[in-house]
Amino acid sequence: MEKKIFSDIEYNKYLNKKKLMGSKCKKCGSLFTPPRPICIDCYGTDMEWVEMKGTGKLAAFTCISIGPPFMIEEGFDRKHPYCVGVVELDEGTKVDARIEGIDPARPETIKVGMPLAVKYLHRKKKGEKLTYLAFEPV
Ligand SMILES: [Zn+2]
Repeated sequence: MEKKIFSDIEYNKYLNKKKLMGSKCKKCGSLFTPPRPICIDCYGTDMEWVEMKGTGKLAAFTCISIGPPFMIEEGFDRKHPYCVGVVELDEGTKVDARIEGIDPARPETIKVGMPLAVKYLHRKKKGEKLTYLAFEPV
């Protein structure tokens, strides 16, 4: 696959293209999402980009009523909370993501273990195209 450095910038460029990428250690096969330049299992640095299927299950979540300024700008507040979670991908790695398609005002309806699929949230900030990783129930 392409020889691109394993950075957040490259990872975000892939997200812009609707690709959820991880890095795989060529030595021991360990997978990382978001991608890491160095394998934490064998300290190998021979990594390759791999595309993840984008499906998994909810491992943990929290609903946030008082978010950081960029979330408040998107219209989230005490009356309109949002949900973030940790998603365990089918490949076995975990990613942090926004959880959409659920009711953050009723966290009791959100279940750990529920199957999720990736969704890309495109935003424009100061003319720059940004893509946030999100998941929604399947
Ligand atoms: Zn390794």
